[in-house]
Amino acid sequence: MEQLNNQVEFLEDKSSSGKIRDWSRKKKRNLKLSEIYMMIKESYRKIHSEKFNRFLNREERSRMCATVLQFKKDTERKRKLHQAYFCQLRLCPVCNWRRSLKIFSQVSKIIQAIEQDVEHAYLFLTLTQKNVNAEELDQTLDEMMKAWNRFLGYKKVKDVVKGSYRGLEITYDKNSKITKNMYQQKKDYYKRLGLKVGDENPNFDMYHPHFHVLIVVDKSYFKSRKYLKHEEWQELWSKAMRLDYLPQVNIKKVKGNSAEAVAEVAKYSAKDSDYVIEKNIDLSMSVVETLDYALQRRRLVSFSGIMKEWHKKLNLDDTEDGDLVHIDSEKDEELEGEMTLETYAWNVGYMNYVRV
Ligand SMILES: [Zn+2]
Repeated sequence: MEQLNNQVEFLEDKSSSGKIRDWSRKKKRNLKLSEIYMMIKESYRKIHSEKFNRFLNREERSRMCATVLQFKKDTERKRKLHQAYFCQLRLCPVCNWRRSLKIFSQVSKIIQAIEQDVEHAYLFLTLTQKNVNAEELDQTLDEMMKAWNRFLGYKKVKDVVKGSYRGLEITYDKNSKITKNMYQQKKDYYKRLGLKVGDENPNFDMYHPHFHVLIVVDKSYFKSRKYLKHEEWQELWSKAMRLDYLPQVNIKKVKGNSAEAVAEVAKYSAKDSDYVIEKNIDLSMSVVETLDYALQRRRLVSFSGIMKEWHKKLNLDDTEDGDLVHIDSEKDEELEGEMTLETYAWNVGYMNYVRV
């Protein structure tokens, strides 16, 4: 074994700040997803050819995702991804990781440009509504998208919001019983319902779609007459969503205005641990299928106002469906001297990327 290992070179990819890019962990999650797609496909064999074909396509695309990675490397041994195939599926753990890096990079660049022009302040807003079940999810997402546009159109909001980034996240509650951890995090909530650890979880099998919003405001916002209190944000979102109750809304000032600190709050779509559920394949299948339909052809990410203008001026490509190879500040100019190419391929035996 020792000898074999000497001949094999595994991929070790680090960002310029020294952070390890764990490709193999993401690829393993991606293969789990591919397996789930395969099982959904099999469940439709003979009974539903359209669904069979849809999930066959999902299975094959996800399996092929990021199997070969080609990097450019300079004499300083700095490395940049040069070529790879990404499946672009909404639920793919590899692609979603690349997208979140890309969102971070795009939002950082936009904020940097805005700040160089005129200094601003930033707010982080979370917009939610009640949990929904699988059947209600698709329609709820439609309503949220419409509500978002209504919300941006309200005078009180327009007076304050100079620009925004909006990302959709859907979390799924996979726990049938209330765990210690869950109880610790929402003690008051469970107490109010008279529930304790080990009881049936009232939110089991429910989806929680919500928006993460980054808002650009004038520096003077906090002292201005236009300042909106928490209750006002809550009322405005309730009105936009046409709800008959006040939803949970969270608003806070983003501390520090360095571009990186601000971009940190920009989030994206879904956590793969919510739907690639190791110990429950049937549940995984139903959640993956629900999310796959609900997220198709949707804009999960959008920019407005000056953030949208800068996105255009800086010539940034489509955040979701654009290039996932060249995503961050990894520009070719940063590589110095002579360039070499290095290729790594996914090896099913090692379950790792191996130099070829
Ligand atoms: Zn992918």
